[in-house]
This record gives sequence, structure tokens and C-alpha cells, in this order.
Amino acid sequence: MFIIEKIEAAAAAGKLQPAVISGEKELTYGELWEKSDALSVYLEEVLGEDKTPLVVYGHKDPMMLVCFLACVKSGRAYCPVDMSMPAERVRDIAETVGNRLVLGVEKPENLPEGMQVLSREDMEKAINARLGERFPESKWVKPDDTFYIIFTSGSTGKPKGVQISAQALTRFTDWSETLGGSPEEKRNAVFLNQAPFSFDLSVMDVYTALTTGATLFCLDKETVKDMAKLTEALGRGNINYWVSTPSFADMCLSDKAFNDKLISDLKAFLFCGEKLTKTTAARLMERFPKARIVNTYGPTESTVAVTGTEITKEMLEAEGELPIGYAKAGTEIEIDGESGEIVIVGDTVSKGYYKDSERTVKAFGRKADGRLYYRTGDQGYLKDGMLYYHGRLDLQVKLHGYRIELGDIECNIGNICGISAAAVIPKYQDGKVKHLTAFVVREDKEEFREDTGARLAASREIKAKLKETLPEYMVPKRIVFTDGLPMTGNGKTDRRKLEALV
Ligand code: AMP
Repeated sequence: MFIIEKIEAAAAAGKLQPAVISGEKELTYGELWEKSDALSVYLEEVLGEDKTPLVVYGHKDPMMLVCFLACVKSGRAYCPVDMSMPAERVRDIAETVGNRLVLGVEKPENLPEGMQVLSREDMEKAINARLGERFPESKWVKPDDTFYIIFTSGSTGKPKGVQISAQALTRFTDWSETLGGSPEEKRNAVFLNQAPFSFDLSVMDVYTALTTGATLFCLDKETVKDMAKLTEALGRGNINYWVSTPSFADMCLSDKAFNDKLISDLKAFLFCGEKLTKTTAARLMERFPKARIVNTYGPTESTVAVTGTEITKEMLEAEGELPIGYAKAGTEIEIDGESGEIVIVGDTVSKGYYKDSERTVKAFGRKADGRLYYRTGDQGYLKDGMLYYHGRLDLQVKLHGYRIELGDIECNIGNICGISAAAVIPKYQDGKVKHLTAFVVREDKEEFREDTGARLAASREIKAKLKETLPEYMVPKRIVFTDGLPMTGNGKTDRRKLEALV
């Protein structure tokens, strides 16, 4: 069944069942379906034939889901942008997406000239005035149309918009509905949503919940920041399927109360986005002996995840790292013979980066039989069909589950006045990045060298400047001023030498 039809079926089967809960706000399936219909009627009135994708700006509000569905019902892709994104990036993304209208569940600042925001209040008014109107199915996005665009860090300092088609999302959910339990078991179950909607990990909980008739239980950023609030929310949520990065589970594990007394009916942890360590898996098995642990792997460019496996006790006892799973149906994993790069071939691969053919042709292609493929930049190997992850071939890292191109940060530091060079180096622990250090060369390094006070002030200033252009998690924890960056024989920054210093 097609993705929107699956949601329609879930809505028809349980009109009064909550589709999404976020703090005090709740929306039933019936409301989600009807409000999104009404909003799509409005979008059609104001935008007509203009099918340019729409930015949906906000945080964990149920209205975000109304907007997502309204966009795709009206034949337009949506681009979720979380309010934690700095204004300059939001502006950049809105400009690239290019629709003159932005759906602002929260109020974005500083949008490009001429752009209009449909505020939450106006959205409610537009919906209420059209409630009960049905939007024709014939206008929904078609399987090959883009369903959403998610922006992710790009090495040149400009984020890349990954376009995922409705068909790719349909194929992804066909598989994700079976993770950690059958689709039938998921009906009326509760899915945890931790990741902001602008991260593709959230697609795993949002659409697996909405296509199986489950309830999405969202944690907002205020709750996640405060351990007491978080524990209270987790205890209240009746969560059955946990979707998060392993780092988020690590954070929860630091509280002793995080166990099967707090979440007594947890069926499975579904992990994706970064390495799952044996330590994390073992601790979870101890605290939640009845819950399954599923490790999945994949990039945004191939719709969240393409491989998965349940982690067993035997895997924990075996030598080496935990596996990242078997390919889902419709996906084939190839390993490049020379570089060991993981190449994903199949039905959930993106059509490429939005309005960026240059970066698209570098990473994507089509096999002779027509299937799309994506070169991940990840290294890995297969053993009896099981995939193992072996690090990156480039300068992309994961920090607390967030995808970061070190080059993105370096470009942004380089853009700050008075800086002549910069290299950002990750500090690893247990195979995961713990924090980032930026080595920075200033143009006035001679005068600057001896002055500790000035160095401290300058480091603070760089961090503040970076926060204007980069999400907070990308701002390096340490700034080290140096007279020059070490070079390798062929004139590149010697990152190995710098790694020894962090
Ligand atoms: P994103 O596009 O943010 O989902 O990030 C995708 C990247 O995260 C992949 O290319 C991998 O480098 C990394 N990744 C995703 N899942 C896993 C996993 N289970 N184990 C190790 N690395 C992972």
C-alpha cells in the first residue's frame, strides 16, 4: 500500500486514537487526517499550480505533522526545519527550497525578503474555515514525487537537501513496520520520538507509528535537557517502541531510574544513526531484560536505514564490534573492492540532493538494471550477508548521533574575519566521538601568542560567531590557537598529528 493510503487506513481504523502526543498537546488520527485535508485545501487555494516544496518550521508540535501531511496531500514535498537551527541556516534553507510561503508552526526570524510565513494562528484559522472539506486523492504526491527534503551537513559549509520520494518512504516503512515486532503488534502501541523532525531518524518513529496505527510520543528539547523532567515523561509515556540514537540511550542510562520499572511494557529499542557499542547494548539488556535491541544502519540518502539486526547475547560475547545488520528486502549492499566503501543499491535510495546536481553525481548513480545506488562514504564488510561498519572514508563524523562534516565547521571558522586557517579534530572514546577541538591560525598570530586573556576572549568570540551560522552541536568544545597547521608530505593538513594532541 502507498504511504498516504497506509496512514488513511490507520486513521479510518482508529479515529479517536491519539496519533501524536507532545507535552500537553494531543491529536487523534481523525483530527490529523481532517486538519491536514483542510490545510491542503488552503494550500491549493493560495499556491495553485506552484508545486515548489514547502519549509515547515517548528519543533515537536502535533501541528507539524498536520503540515507534513497537508503538503504531501496537496502534491508538494515538505522540508522540516527544527527551531534549534540558527536563523542564518534557516534562511539559507528557505532560500534554497524556494517557496515564497513558509509554514511557521513557530515563528522563524530573518527570512529572505518577500517570503511569507503562515503563522500558527493563521494556520488554525485556515483549517477551521475548511474543516470537513475533503482533498482529492488524485492530487496527492505520486510515488516518484519527492515526499520530504531533509538537509544535512555538507563539507563545503553549505547543507545538502536530501530528497526522498514517496515510493522510497513507502518501501522503508514496509520494512520498518517489522522491526522489533510485527506490524499488528504495533497497532495501538506507543513509539518514542526523540529526534527533531529535521533529522531523518525521526522518520523511523513518525512514519512507522503512523502507518501501523500507533501513537507517537514526542519529547521536546526542554524535557530532554532536564533529567528529572525526562524521567517523568518516560515514566508517563507507556512507551513500547523506543527510537533514538545510542547516545540518547546512554544519557538515559546515566539515571539509575531508567529501567523496566519506569518503562514496564517496552518491547524494543530501535537504534540508528551511529555506532551501537557493546557497553550500551549490555547495559540495556541488564536494565530491560524483556526488550529486544535492534541495531539498524543507513544514511539519510537512503531513507533512514537499510540494514538491521536484533542484538543477541552471543553477539555481545563474540569478538569485535556489533554487526549493523542484514539488508532489507529491495536493498542490496555492495562493498567497493578497492576502498571497502559501502554502496547501497535499491528502492529507498534518494533521487539526489535538491538543486545540487554537482554533489548528486558525485555520490549517486544508476545501475544498468535501473536501480539507484548511493556511495555512502562508510567503510564496511559483509560476513554471510551480515554487514559490519568500519568507520568513514572522509571527514564526516557523528557526535551524539548528529551528522557533521568537519569541513562544514572549518569553512564556517574560516569565514570569520582575521582567521587564516582552521582544522577541526574529533576526540574518540570507545570508538565514538566525545567532542571536537578546533585548531585555529590567526592572521595576527605574532601579537596574539603571548596574551592568554586575549586568547580566551577570542575563543569565546569564535564560538559565539559559529552559533550564528551552525547548529549548537557543531560548535567545537575546545578552540586551540596555533601558529600553523602541520602538513603532510603532499601538502595536506596532517590530521594524524593533530589527533595526537586532542
Ligand atoms: P545520517 O544521515 O544522519 O543518518 O547519518 C548516516 C551515517 O551515520 C552513516 O553513513 C554512518 O556513518 C552512520 N551510522 C548510521 N547508522 C549507524 C550504525 N548503526 N552504526 C554505525 N554508524 C552508523
